[in-house]
Amino acid sequence: MPWTSGAHRAHRSAPEVAAEPATLEARAVSAWFGERKVLDRVSLTMPAGQVTALIGPSGCGKSTFLRTLNRMHELVPGAALAGEVLLEGVDLYDAERRLTDARRQVGMVFQKPNPFPAMSIQENVLAGLHLTGARLDRDAEESLVEESLRRAGLWNEVKDRLRQPGSALSGGQQQRLCIARSLAVKPRVLLMDEPCSALDPTSTRVVEETITQIAEQVTIVIVTHNMQQAHRVSDQCAFFLASHGTPGVIVEHGPTEAMFSEPQDQRTSDYVNGRF
Ligand code: ADP
Ligand code: MG
Repeated sequence: MPWTSGAHRAHRSAPEVAAEPATLEARAVSAWFGERKVLDRVSLTMPAGQVTALIGPSGCGKSTFLRTLNRMHELVPGAALAGEVLLEGVDLYDAERRLTDARRQVGMVFQKPNPFPAMSIQENVLAGLHLTGARLDRDAEESLVEESLRRAGLWNEVKDRLRQPGSALSGGQQQRLCIARSLAVKPRVLLMDEPCSALDPTSTRVVEETITQIAEQVTIVIVTHNMQQAHRVSDQCAFFLASHGTPGVIVEHGPTEAMFSEPQDQRTSDYVNGRF
C-alpha cells in the first residue's frame, strides 16, 4: 500500500516538523511465543491525541500487545503474529514500510529508565534520532534537544548540565530523559510499558504530568498496574484478561470514566476495585 501524503510528509521531514498524533488501530491481533498463543484476536482503536490505558493482571498479554504495535514482537525468536495494525489507516506491517519507519512513528518507553550510560544528557536526547540515520546541523540539534527536554518537562532541571552523564540523574529525571529521547524522533504514537513502576510517588506524579502535557501532540498507549494512575491520565481504558491458561483478550474497553464508575463486566468491576 502506498504512503498517504500526510504520512509521507511526516516521514521525510520528521526532525524539523512536529508530527501530528495518529490513530492506531489493532484489528484481530493474535500473538504466539512458539506454540503458545498469548493474545487472541485483540481489536482496539487508540484515537489520535488520546491516552489509552491497558490494564489487567500480570501475564495477560499487555506488554506483548504493546510490542505488536511497533513491531518489536517480531524481534523475539519464535514469535509469531496475525492480524493487522494500522497507523492512520496504513498497515504498519506492510512489506514496503521499513522497520525503522514503524519504530520512528511509534516510539516506546520502558518500565526501567534506560538512558545510555556512557552518553551525556544531550547525546541521550539525540541517540534515537541518530539510530534512525538522521543527521542535523549543530544549531538544529541544539534546538531539538531543548524542545524535546521542554516537552518532557525536564529542560529547567538540566539546561545547565547537558554534557553530564544521563545516568547521574534521579530515576524520575531519567525516565523523562527517555521520554525526551523518544520525542526527539517526532513519533506520532508513544507506547509506555509501566513507565512509573520503578519510580517513587513524587516522580510518578511528575511523569504523569508530562504524559498529560504531551498527549495533545502524540497518541499515548500506557500499560499500568496503578488504577489511580489509569484514572488520572487516560481517556479510555482496555481491560485485558487471560484466565486459566487461555490467551489474553480484551474483556471490556471504553471511556475511562465509565469503566471505573459503571463497568459492564463483573470481572472488570472486580479488577478496578482491587478484588483480584
Ligand atoms: P503482561 O505484560 O500483561 O504481564 P506479557 O505480555 O508480558 O503479559 O506476557 C503474556 C504471556 O506471554 C505470559 O504468559 C508470558 O509468560 C508470556 N511471554 C512473555 N514474553 C515471552 C517470551 N519472550 N517468550 C515466551 N513467553 C513469553
Ligand atoms: Mg508487562
